[in-house]
Amino acid sequence: MSSRLVVVSNRVADPRKTAAGGLAVALGDVLNKTGGLWFGWSGKVIEAEQGGVAGEGEVHTHQAGAVKLVTVDLSREDHDAYYAGYSNGVLWPVFHYRLDLADFDTGYIAGYRRVNQLFARKLLPLLQPDDIIWVHDYHLIPLAAELRALGCANRIGFFLHIPLPPPLILAAIPGHDWLIRALFSFDLLGFQSKADLGHFTAYAQAEAHAQNVGEGRWRAFNRTVHAGAFPIGIDVDEFQGLAQAKEGLDMYVRMKEEYSRRKLLVGVDRLDYSKGLPQRMRAFRELLASYPDTRDSATLIQIASPSREDVSAYSDILHELESLCGSINGNFGELDWMPVRYMHRTVARARLPGLYRASRVALVTPLRDGMNLVAKEFIAAQDPEDPGVLVLSRFAGAAEQLRDALLVNPYDTAGTAAAIHMALMMPLEERRERHQGLMNSIRRYDVHWWCDSFLEVLGEASAEESGTPWL
Ligand code: ADP
Repeated sequence: MSSRLVVVSNRVADPRKTAAGGLAVALGDVLNKTGGLWFGWSGKVIEAEQGGVAGEGEVHTHQAGAVKLVTVDLSREDHDAYYAGYSNGVLWPVFHYRLDLADFDTGYIAGYRRVNQLFARKLLPLLQPDDIIWVHDYHLIPLAAELRALGCANRIGFFLHIPLPPPLILAAIPGHDWLIRALFSFDLLGFQSKADLGHFTAYAQAEAHAQNVGEGRWRAFNRTVHAGAFPIGIDVDEFQGLAQAKEGLDMYVRMKEEYSRRKLLVGVDRLDYSKGLPQRMRAFRELLASYPDTRDSATLIQIASPSREDVSAYSDILHELESLCGSINGNFGELDWMPVRYMHRTVARARLPGLYRASRVALVTPLRDGMNLVAKEFIAAQDPEDPGVLVLSRFAGAAEQLRDALLVNPYDTAGTAAAIHMALMMPLEERRERHQGLMNSIRRYDVHWWCDSFLEVLGEASAEESGTPWL
């Protein structure tokens, strides 16, 4: 691909910094090849008294190797409606099937649109005619439509990192028809799983009378869009490198010493209601209650990093989790054994592989998840001679690929407890076989495959209709 790549996402990361993680590294690799541009919000919010005028953000430019990082500030009003409001108060819960948690405040959608218009206005003058634009995630669904309205004829792809629910759930969003219309301004739509892709095509047919014109292409609103499933992966070599580096090894040795008598179970998540943390704790409590052999012999380390604390549904989940952990330790703990070690914080990325490798079982049990990268990181970090076992929710996008995990329904407390028990007792031979199957999958579909295959299809996508504004 000789065209320059322009990546647009809510937040921008310097791909040269190792803390950035797999996605930033992979995008950085591709951006570096052709000398690319990465555009997004600066992370800065301008308060009204500082002169924040709605919709007029200051632009910052920063060169990171061959990659130009361009970011824009947001006013308080715009930020609250676009980020906390529409993106995380409406789209995040609904796309994770949680209509009960959505806050359909009518003011949010206007702010969401204003920020997408601001992004389009600030980005347009930076574009060259043969740039390929790759837009990421639910914050920026209308961006292509806003760019097209300003006359942008470039090829534009979109990747949705979170799940897309079935049509009846989508239809609960006020203005959902506006969103689906906006999706047709892209040239390629990428989803995490075949299930999500199926929901898009069902929705497009039911609500937009889209026609299937073959080879993954759909026609509606006078435009043709390609749609496909591109499950995201991790950078397996990078992660294994971290496992062998000093901090990873130190962590592994410390954990092995600390838990030499006991089997370690691990959960690592953002503290989000989609992650099924209370359900996981109930399953662990059920395990201790129904399988007495696990008492005093298994310890669960649950790390939950603070996330979106300005969104109200998040404080409820925090209190529920604290109360469950306290009652499990109160009811089952001994003077020299606490069943749950719960930490409300982030662990340094360099230490994570050591923690994963020292654990016999990982609990990755979201109620819904676009993919779930923790599942893949856990697999990558294992010792193939003595690997741990992955207990994985069937409702994570990763379950479509990771068939050798122990798949569970996280709403089924007894069934999940039984699977955790099976994981703790699994003989070495079976652990190795399953791990081998899982490794093959994460190696084949790693983050480079994801990046390359999306961009290859976007490069081939016909740009025949580009430039037809629909607004
Ligand atoms: P999400 O994007 O919804 O948070 P993913 O599992 O797809 O979920 O990605 C989470 C990423 O953040 C992984 O790379 C994981 O290692 C990291 N992460 C999640 N929770 C923590 C934590 N408590 N401490 C450190 N890193 C975390």
